[in-house]
Order: sequence, then C-alpha cells, then structure tokens
Amino acid sequence: MSLLAVGTVAFDAIETPFGKTDRIVGGAATYVCLSASYFTKNVNLVAVVGDDFPQEEISDLNKHGISTEGLQIKNGEKSFFWAGRYHNDMNSRDTLATELNVLADFDPVIPESYQDCQYLMLGNLTPIIQQTVIKRLKNRPKLIVMDTMNFWMDIAMDDLKETLKMVDVLTINDAEARQLSGEFSLVKAAKKIHAMGPKYLVIKKGEHGALLFGEGQIFSAPALPLEDVFDPTGAGDTFAGGFIGYLAGQNSISFENMKKAVIYGSALASFCVEKFGTERIKNLSEQDINARVIEFSKLVQF
Ligand code: AMP
Repeated sequence: MSLLAVGTVAFDAIETPFGKTDRIVGGAATYVCLSASYFTKNVNLVAVVGDDFPQEEISDLNKHGISTEGLQIKNGEKSFFWAGRYHNDMNSRDTLATELNVLADFDPVIPESYQDCQYLMLGNLTPIIQQTVIKRLKNRPKLIVMDTMNFWMDIAMDDLKETLKMVDVLTINDAEARQLSGEFSLVKAAKKIHAMGPKYLVIKKGEHGALLFGEGQIFSAPALPLEDVFDPTGAGDTFAGGFIGYLAGQNSISFENMKKAVIYGSALASFCVEKFGTERIKNLSEQDINARVIEFSKLVQF
C-alpha cells in the first residue's frame, strides 16, 4: 500500500551530554520516510529544501525506495534549520533555534503519481500546510496520522485544532498531550484529545515507552532499556514512520494491528537514538529489526 509522508527535511545542530554536531541532516519527514521504508514499498515524500541540501542525501532516500518526486528544491534559498540541546536525562530538551527558511512559504504540491496513497503521515510541520495536503488529495486516505510539537501549539494553536478535526491518529509526547488538553492525567488528556478529532492517540513517553488510546482501550508499550542513548533527535518521527509504515505494509488498521505497529515503531526508535542523526536508521537489516522486536516481547512476558 502506498504511503505519503509530508514534513520537514532539514539541517539540525544537536548538543547532547555525549557530544555536539554541526548541521547534520534531519527533519521530521526524513526520519519518517527512512523508518517507514523498512515496512512498506511505496513511500512518497512531499517536502521542501533549499539548494544548500546535499544531493547525496536525496540519493540516500531514493536508495531506500523513497520517491522524492514531491521534494521541492528552492534555488537561492536555505533549508529549514533546527538546533536543540538535550538535558542530562535525555528526555527533555531546549530548542535553541528554529529557522523556517524555505518552510515559511512552502506550498505543498502533490504529484499525480502520489494521488492514490492509502496512508498519509502528516509529519511535524506548520498545521496549515498539513491541512492543505489533506485538501489537495482527491480521495481521503484510509488512514491519516499526524504528528506535531509544542512549537506549533505555542504559535498556531487554532490552526492546529482545525487540522486535528481531519485526522485519525495523533502522535505526540506526554508534555505536548498535557499542553494540548490542559490536563495533567494522560487518561483525561486522551479523552479531551479524542473529542478534538483523532479517534486514536499515541502518547510517546521517551525512555518510558508509549501509550495507545482508542476504541475505549489502552495499550502500553515499553521502551527498550538501552545502555547508551547518544541522541534522541528524531526518535518520535522514527516511531511515527515505523508505526504507519507497519500499518501500510500489513494494510490493516485494526486496533490489534495498531498495537503491533506501536511495537515496531518503538523498535525503530530504539535504533534511532543509538547514533547521532539518521546514521543508525539508514543501515538496518530485517534481522536487526526482528531481533529487536523479540527483545520487546521478552521484556513484557510474564
Ligand atoms: P523529534 O526528535 O522526533 O521531535 O524530531 C526532531 C526533528 O524535527 C528534527 O530533525 C528537526 O529538524 C525537526 N523539527 C524541529 N522543530 C520542528 C518544527 N517546529 N517543525 C517541524 N519539524 C521540526
């Protein structure tokens, strides 16, 4: 089944207690697409970059079977740039810079060849652009998953709430779920967020795993306890890509299958944090992924 992913393709500068990077390739859509590509064949990207973005990085996406026909390259403009610094616990971070650059006037164009997509991943991006992508698809996809972050809640809450009415699944972290709902209890937050539109909600809790809410049920997935976490950047997007990629690969959106998708998403995210940027999730084998999923199931069997 084909999957359309929209989001940022970016440069990131990251500081963690273990080191620092100068402008490396990141962006929500980059992580989503790479992660999803391990589970489903037709992954189609809609995004924008400036002419400062390296062609080799685009070729790397293509090597993973990702179509970049919908990736706009703007001459004379700069790519989206984000800088962040993680605290010692690696679960929280400060955003040091968000430079929208090409994103400021991004007009997402959906190539004709992407129009039949059944699964839509609205990666972290301006809520209005996320909404525009839904409106520009001739047929509503079978499943629309949306990710967002506190940045958009701070500056575009009304637009975000409009977009939420149009999606099936929202994936956000615990702090964002609290900010969006105004509730401290995640169970109460989930009820309020369901009422805003999404029938399903995934709350990511970093090293404490993830919760899936929907159909009156709750599923809890652990995060794999890892000895070394180098860089959590992109873990949420990698999770989202694994989640929707798995659902698309199986072409099933039952709650039972969503539980498995949460585990596959968590498994991919556990690889992501082992190295800086996209390095680790660019080079995974099917055996690596299957072995990790077995570790997850061992963790919760009793
Ligand atoms: P995550 O760690 O999963 O929240 O994702 C981090 C990625 O999101 C980085 O690669 C950034 O380039 C990208 N990012 C950071 N801020 C934003 C934003 N406001 N909108 C869209 N993408 C962002």
